[in-house]
Amino acid sequence: MSDGTLTPEMLAERAKTNGVELWALTDHDEMGGQHRAAAAAKAQGLPYLTGTEISVTFANETVHIVGLGFDPDDAEMQQGLRNTRSGREQRAMQMAESLAKAGIQGSFEGALKFVGNPELISRTHFARFLVESGVCRDTSEVFRKYLTEGKPGYVPHRWAALRDAVTWITNAHGIAVIAHPGRYKFTANEEYALFTEFKAHGGQAVEVVTGSHTKQEFVKYAETAKEFGLAASRGSDFHSPDESHTDLGALSFLMGDLTPVWELLAGRIQ
Ligand code: AMP
Ligand code: MN
Repeated sequence: MSDGTLTPEMLAERAKTNGVELWALTDHDEMGGQHRAAAAAKAQGLPYLTGTEISVTFANETVHIVGLGFDPDDAEMQQGLRNTRSGREQRAMQMAESLAKAGIQGSFEGALKFVGNPELISRTHFARFLVESGVCRDTSEVFRKYLTEGKPGYVPHRWAALRDAVTWITNAHGIAVIAHPGRYKFTANEEYALFTEFKAHGGQAVEVVTGSHTKQEFVKYAETAKEFGLAASRGSDFHSPDESHTDLGALSFLMGDLTPVWELLAGRIQ
């Protein structure tokens, strides 16, 4: 529903075919696909957990907090995600202005074509437009040249607060997970602060094995999980067959000395 190219039904089928044993659809700042995904998983005989990935600003960096196993009809969480999404359209217009100054016209309309709903417009949709219009060869080139800090199409944005994201998820009976910690440009002190505050607010898990981590980062964050007493998660971050290098069901297993987050969520698997 956010920035993937496949429908929930196509993803459920692909997950099943690839041997996935437990699936969660984790749209950015959105849970409107949860009932569809759960139904599609059921039709495939695939166990399912609800999911989302909330954009948070912590120490001036964007951090993603995954929620798993929450009640998708929880009103407080729905309102929180709505507020988080509400800044996307304005940010996208600023990105388009900034890209226009760099000589790329019409990128707001171009990006919007890929998503339809301006509340969900993301850098990924701009990347697809710049590939479609021949400015770059692929989406990673777009991020490298245009959409990351210091580049012409980058617009800093203030997302949700860490405490709020963790609280929405836990109050909706879910578990909050730090997504792909290896991706953030934090100093050791800032990373320590992220884990410490996350835990203090009620966060319970961290992604260890993910498509965004190297093998060395699997090891590093397995140690961090144990140090902070967090359960461990595993997720592909799969967005599209054309853009993602990690397919559903392709990652290696979690190390045996970690507590898998799904053990804490056994009662919420559908
Ligand atoms: P946004 O929430 O609009 O800032 O977009 C974030 C999304 O952009 C992430 O979830 C990724 O899917 C994608 N993204 C961020 N950085 C990169 C990158 N370097 N290469 C490819 N995709 C990226
Ligand atoms: Mn992410």
